[in-house]
Amino acid sequence: MPLNEIAASLYAWDLADEGVDHALDVLASRAEVNSAYLVGMMHKEKRPLHARHYPHNPVRRYYLPEDSRAYWKPAADRYGRIKPLTSDRDFLAGTDWLQVLIDGARARGMRTGCEISHTIIDAQYARAHYPDALQRDVFGNIVGAFEAVEAQRALPCLNHPDVRDYIIGLFTDLAINYDVDYLQTCLVMFGAGRGDGGTHSAGPTDWQHLLGVATGGCFCDACREKATAEGLDWAELTDEIGHLARLSKRIGLAELHERQLLDEANYSESSLLIENDAFMSWLQFRKRSITGLFADVRQALDGVGRPIELRYNTYMAAPERAGLDFRSAFRHVDSVRESDYSDQLGTAEGVAIKRAKLMKVRRALNDDQLLIAALGVRPNATPETLRGSIKAAVDAGADGLSLGHYDGATMERLDAVRIGLREHEAQERFWQPLES
Ligand SMILES: [Zn+2]
Repeated sequence: MPLNEIAASLYAWDLADEGVDHALDVLASRAEVNSAYLVGMMHKEKRPLHARHYPHNPVRRYYLPEDSRAYWKPAADRYGRIKPLTSDRDFLAGTDWLQVLIDGARARGMRTGCEISHTIIDAQYARAHYPDALQRDVFGNIVGAFEAVEAQRALPCLNHPDVRDYIIGLFTDLAINYDVDYLQTCLVMFGAGRGDGGTHSAGPTDWQHLLGVATGGCFCDACREKATAEGLDWAELTDEIGHLARLSKRIGLAELHERQLLDEANYSESSLLIENDAFMSWLQFRKRSITGLFADVRQALDGVGRPIELRYNTYMAAPERAGLDFRSAFRHVDSVRESDYSDQLGTAEGVAIKRAKLMKVRRALNDDQLLIAALGVRPNATPETLRGSIKAAVDAGADGLSLGHYDGATMERLDAVRIGLREHEAQERFWQPLES
């Protein structure tokens, strides 16, 4: 199948610093981009992410975004108790950056979209105003993402009714009030936990990773009520998972001793699952919760009255540890962006990792669902690995590419996309008779 869609993401500050026309003209002419989306709700993450400094921003060397701000103008009537925050930065506040992007993209005949990125709630604000809606670990601590515990990050619980309403509000606000073709999200699901890493020099083994999930989320009151309504024994569940969490973190002398035995034993993931019925049922409960969220978003978008493509953007190597089961959740999406950036390892092995992840998603999708392969067009990738990644996308039955991210891209990497499409005959225009 041809790689028909070549998408690229932009941030509000890219548009402010470089101008939408310049950014889109660079992307279209160098990398054949025909689809542009705004990262409309962006988490707190230093930009550019991998390089220390921007390669082509004329205004600033790097940027430190606020936590989980909306860069469109949210419609108040779509939201209940939890409402999106907008930017307080002078150069961003007051402008509808999604409309700016849409106007620029439509003028060029491009598809347009908007992404709701990893986190949707400012952690400090939420800790002060909605502590009941935040994920908790089995010990009652607030579960965060990305940074150290001391950074006081926080994830909303996707089973909390007010959080569900908020998520539905975000999607329907964008679908109703903006001329977007697709809505994409890489929302962080349940906290996947962090173990202590094990003792093997090769890093944690698979069962140690899985054990670490017991230190993740969620054990809030909303989860307890939902799980109990579904027939789970909450006391038994928290007792068993509490034990596993202490094993994972080596809390207590008895657990430390047991963990040392396990580390020196021929233990496995399947042993861990077969042995711990309540842990297994909790993993299945999380899966049902996430699949239900996808179904709710789908239903809400179906009620908007015009077709909106729902695109899920993967964000972790082992999504099942966050409750995401591809096959069940992806029944409710139109397309998946596999966001692997292993091309940035700069090696053939990195391209092989990407190829495997693409195959995994393709297998989980029906034939009429689209697979979009992300490309890391940033300095750690090489033109060779990027061209190899385009071949991997062709091999995996992909339907498009999605470049991540313009802010960190170099012109040489963008050119490699155009060259790779030609080299691997990735579109119908390369499948034509020779001129006589
Ligand atoms: Zn919860």
